[in-house]
Amino acid sequence: MHCTKCTNNAVYINPTFCKQHFLLYIEKTVEKTIKRHSLIQKNDHIVVAVSGGKDSITLLYILNKLKPKLSFTLAALAIDEGIAGYRNKTLVTVNDFCKQHAISLNIVSYKDSFGKSLDKFLATTHKNTKPCTLCGAFRRTLLNKYARIYSASKLATGHNLDDESQAIIMNLLRGTPQLSARLGPQTGVIEDDLFVPRIKPLYFIPEKQIAAYSFLMKFNIEYGECPYVVQAYRGVIGELLNKYEQKHQDAKKNIINLFLKNKKKLMKLSIKHEKKVNYCNHCKEPSATAVCKTCVLLENKQYI
Ligand SMILES: [Zn+2]
Ligand SMILES: [Zn+2]
Repeated sequence: MHCTKCTNNAVYINPTFCKQHFLLYIEKTVEKTIKRHSLIQKNDHIVVAVSGGKDSITLLYILNKLKPKLSFTLAALAIDEGIAGYRNKTLVTVNDFCKQHAISLNIVSYKDSFGKSLDKFLATTHKNTKPCTLCGAFRRTLLNKYARIYSASKLATGHNLDDESQAIIMNLLRGTPQLSARLGPQTGVIEDDLFVPRIKPLYFIPEKQIAAYSFLMKFNIEYGECPYVVQAYRGVIGELLNKYEQKHQDAKKNIINLFLKNKKKLMKLSIKHEKKVNYCNHCKEPSATAVCKTCVLLENKQYI
């Protein structure tokens, strides 16, 4: 099969492009998303949350490429949760990649910030806590705190079309659709000095296209998954959507588009809770509640 733009053989079907046109298509999609949704302004300092997986490395690479054209500056931030046999490997990838592309990198660990690695928490004080509950809260706190410390005007994450459609469906199935007001290519219902706005430039790109991009670019990436992911509800929803999409093309895109059309209504539903920012009584970080999730979890109280 031939590329729809030239006479070369296609390396990807639907959209059907040769290598060169496929790479260009992905990069153009990211640039279009940034422009259409005003994700980056001139002179912004973008801190990219990077895990060493295909999504965050692809994001870092494309943003680094767009940097001169769109006039912004860039740095990378990695969180070391302390997951033996997984995170230590991905951090090597991140370090090498940043060196190779002359991108400044900071690494912040759970151990230094909270006294223990994720593995240690789960093996000792938090045996009954779901790994992703702990990790989600800790990661969120550290990313916001250190993005702010490293002077970010925006924090960019590698969330893709699959991640976002999964999150929307999860909120629906749990009966909390208003929580989706926090989703979207630019997030944060609230504006606050301590809260760094988040952007998702890969928002409209399906996971398999990112996998193809990073494969064709020959990024030196560990293709393994976090060992705790099997315990996550998200994995179940992801599988379900993948199966459904095999027969119903563009299902994920349709979920996202329906959500974006209705985001304003959802924001009205959630505004009661998020009109103004509270600060956690303990750590003073922005929080929706009097004590933030991270502090509740650190005190090991029943987390609902
Ligand atoms: Zn072509
Ligand atoms: Zn707190």
